Amino acid sequence: MPPPAPSLRLSRRALLARLAIGVAVLACLGLLWSLATVYQERTATYRHQAERELQTISRLQASAVSDWRERRLADASALTDDDLFARAVARWREAPSAHTEAPVHDRLRILQERQRYTAVFFVSPEGAVLLPAATPNAALPAQEKKALQQALESATTAVVEPRRDPFFAFPFFSLMAPIYDGMQPLGAVWLVIDVRGSLYSLLTPWPTASKSAESALVSAEGADPVLLSPLRLQALPTPVPLVPASDRGNLLMQAVAGARGLIHARDAQGTEVLAVVNAIAESPWFLVSKIDLAEAFGDASRRELVALSLPLSLALLLAGLFLVAWQRRAWLRERTLKESLARNMQWLESAQKSALVGYYAYQPESGQFNLSPMAAELFGLPGDGPVARAQWLAQVHAEDRPRVLAALEAALGAGTPLRMQYRMSSAGNDRWVDMWGERNAPEGNASMTGTVQDITERQRAADKLDQYRLALETLVRQDPLTQVANRRALTEAVAVEWQRAARSGSSLSLLMVDVDHFKAFNDRYGHLAGDECLRKVAAAMARTAARASDLVARYGGEEFAVLLPETPERDAMAIAEQMRLAVRKLAIVHAASGVASMVTVSIGVATMHPRPHVSATPGHEPSRASAKASAERESQELFRQADDALYAAKSVGRDTVVPYTAAVSEAAPSDLTPSPPEPRST
Ligand code: GH3
Ligand code: MG
Ligand code: MG
Repeated sequence: MPPPAPSLRLSRRALLARLAIGVAVLACLGLLWSLATVYQERTATYRHQAERELQTISRLQASAVSDWRERRLADASALTDDDLFARAVARWREAPSAHTEAPVHDRLRILQERQRYTAVFFVSPEGAVLLPAATPNAALPAQEKKALQQALESATTAVVEPRRDPFFAFPFFSLMAPIYDGMQPLGAVWLVIDVRGSLYSLLTPWPTASKSAESALVSAEGADPVLLSPLRLQALPTPVPLVPASDRGNLLMQAVAGARGLIHARDAQGTEVLAVVNAIAESPWFLVSKIDLAEAFGDASRRELVALSLPLSLALLLAGLFLVAWQRRAWLRERTLKESLARNMQWLESAQKSALVGYYAYQPESGQFNLSPMAAELFGLPGDGPVARAQWLAQVHAEDRPRVLAALEAALGAGTPLRMQYRMSSAGNDRWVDMWGERNAPEGNASMTGTVQDITERQRAADKLDQYRLALETLVRQDPLTQVANRRALTEAVAVEWQRAARSGSSLSLLMVDVDHFKAFNDRYGHLAGDECLRKVAAAMARTAARASDLVARYGGEEFAVLLPETPERDAMAIAEQMRLAVRKLAIVHAASGVASMVTVSIGVATMHPRPHVSATPGHEPSRASAKASAERESQELFRQADDALYAAKSVGRDTVVPYTAAVSEAAPSDLTPSPPEPRST
């Protein structure tokens, strides 16, 4: 089965990663949801706890207050119903004396002491304090007087709610217990209680360590609430309304308006409170207990937060650990990449070193080179920082500098690839480098990057090859025996000179030189001597035809040809004569010659004026190839004429120079006419 396509594998991996992220997100959401739910449930539980606590305390306090009030009322009722006491009072009132007063006084004193009343008085039906006799303020306060009237009329205990009055130095609660003698009202016992020690002490201590919880007794005066007990942390109650009647949200206003049980309200300072209102049985009182909402629920919330912070911090810790692991993985991956990059760079470096290749980056803007270590070594420059262009240029061989600069500027200007080879002169040692480069930015702030390679060895090998080729080419065109040009070189030279002469309109001369009776020389002195003779003759001729354009060539055997460009017949004749004399002057003994005692030569001279080649098609420039072919064809005539002249020279007795003429041509045997490149013998 074929392996799955990479894109498919990749997408499956991406899908899995996406799935994992989705699951993680869902798990996080689930965790958050459950945490939030637990938090809410626990907060609600704490809330209920706080509410229950407040309700319980308030209920206990209310029942204590209720008991307290009932006991007082019961005391007062007991007085009213006490016939003995009523009779004692009647006796004392009828005949006031220390004797009749004593039982009444004792009863009141016992009541005060036993039942813990602050003060107990006996007041007349008119409101005068009769007992104890020494009471400084003998007249009743207005409210007590009213209560007295009410008590006497209704024959039941009348109550004056807790308040302050100049009559006493303390806040007090009064009860008026009417006393009758049959139907006859005798007065009333005024029971006074300092509420600070008895009533308030039921409310002020708070059983829990709360900072804002407190209870207060309240009664209504019309629609206004009146505080009967001090707030735990505030001043003593005043009988004035504490809040404007318009503030419906106020705790006391709500209580007065009839709210009972658990309520949410505001206190006089506007603070949100949780409150419980309990009516005190058989009284106009109600007990209001409250706690600041912030305290009641804030603590719970804080406790919950602390509790929840544990799993949260655990989750955060896990997330942190996950992140750290992730980071570490990324860091490890980065380190691996860096290491492999460094390794690759090292490989590249060593590969470049072995190939003698370095790389560079050139910034024309700053005129700076950044070089790889190998490039720096090749240029003979420091490789530990950018190198200025002038520094690099100073290393370039002085002769190559203008060319190198021009090439660099051209490549940067036109954006064409740079390729140049030049010499670097470092430490007096010339080295050839091959520099490649490419401009990076299409325009504007361009830079160039590329490679530089040491090609010194290659260049040296190429130079050697060139020399070798040159030598070979020379050899190919040289006669090995005489060291003058060979026939191939002659043919090429004739073709070139023919065309040149045709262009310039100059004359072209050709000498055909043949050693006289050379066969006989060979026969007489041997072949080696013959070779030596040929060498000497050739050298003598070469010395005579000394112009650079003159060419002496061995035509074949003991026959030579001398090509004299731009030489008219007269000059050619003169040169030929000089050659003949030069050979004689060699004085190579030739006893078998028959012409002279030394080796001599016969020379035929031909001079022609080559005509420019005309194209077969009128109006068209002749092609290079056709011009060459025509030159070769026409130059054969020059050879023929020179050969005819040579034949004539042989015919007239040898050791002579004969120019070509029509007569010579006629005298020459037609079969002897040379047809280069084939040589013929004379
Ligand atoms: P003529 O004066 O008519 O030219 O008489 P000749 O003997 O020179 O002419 P021929 O052509 O009959 O003889 C040429 C001789 O040159 C024949 C050959 O042995 C000799 N020869 C040709 N090439 C060489 C060579 O390379 N070395 C030597 N030693 N002799 C050569
Ligand atoms: Mg000869
Ligand atoms: Mg010959």
